[in-house]
Amino acid sequence: MSPIRLAIVGFGKIARDQHVAAIVETPGIELAAVASRNAAPAGIARFATLDDLLARGPTIDAVALCTPPQVRRALAAAALAAGKHVLLEKPPAATVSELAPLLAVAQASGKTLFATWHSRFAPAVEPAREFLSKRAIRSVVIEWKEDVRVWHPGQAWIWEPGGLGVFDPGINALSILTRILPRPVFLTRATLSFPKNRAAPIAADLDLSDATGLPIHAAFDFRQTGPQTWDIRVETQDGELLLSSGGAKLFLDGRTLVDAKAAEYPGIYRHFVELVGRGQSDVDLAPLAHVADAFMLGRREIVEAFED
Ligand code: NAP
Repeated sequence: MSPIRLAIVGFGKIARDQHVAAIVETPGIELAAVASRNAAPAGIARFATLDDLLARGPTIDAVALCTPPQVRRALAAAALAAGKHVLLEKPPAATVSELAPLLAVAQASGKTLFATWHSRFAPAVEPAREFLSKRAIRSVVIEWKEDVRVWHPGQAWIWEPGGLGVFDPGINALSILTRILPRPVFLTRATLSFPKNRAAPIAADLDLSDATGLPIHAAFDFRQTGPQTWDIRVETQDGELLLSSGGAKLFLDGRTLVDAKAAEYPGIYRHFVELVGRGQSDVDLAPLAHVADAFMLGRREIVEAFED
């Protein structure tokens, strides 16, 4: 089979940092073009918009949508209408209900729609899922605290409606949580802290649970300076399982079980090639639904203004 000819749409931080290299190292897929107002890798044809690319560009089979979430649905709809497979960066959409019509089109036309959750491809996630599938779980504590000035410089969209604020990274923790636990979870309480000059939260404090009453606490904060924290601690019958560094490392009572180089995006692209080969889609909205629930159920507090 000839390789999938893919176009990246939106050539910002994640496209440059992760997508290009992951595509290069994945058999069965190649970068054929980029739709960007600003830039493209050397030697790759650039078109200002997806519409331009579809009308005048080289033949492509698929697109990877690396824009902010607010503009992703319209791009996905246009790509599917043109008969292309679609890979969505996380979060897959700006609302929970945007995905169902896209999935219906993909399924009716035999195209692949892949809503990626890159943190699920971190090396410690599947070992943690396997470990927890065989043990009683007593509690879960998530700390996802990072410095927004370091990780999201100049990304105005993150503070706009649909940008999710601190849930932009926090949803990664929820994507891991919903993968490693053996039962579905639901939100029971939330407090969202909004800077008085912004439309999205800078911090969130959540309680979740499951059908057995499992206590789950999550603290997300964009104001962390110094050491950064992306940890999930699970108290089990056999000790404390700690997923740290966003899922790159796994410890049991301090003993190292996994300590691997993060290689999330090659895993994403391998899965995309498999999905296209099988004519299937992969869309799991659970992490996005928990974020939507936090906006529905959460108490809002106004905190001091945030300046970039
Ligand atoms: P970014 O640096 O702001 O890049 C987004 C790009 O999308 C822009 O450079 C722009 O590309 C294009 N774009 C199209 N419409 C836009 C609009 N209305 N406003 C702003 N940009 C627009 O953001 P990013 O960090 O790459 O994040 C993009 C998506 O990837 C987000 O959903 C984010 O959650 C996800 N993600 C980010 C990271 C990370 O570490 N940054 C990690 C994993 C996932 P052109 O100038 O080329 O047109």
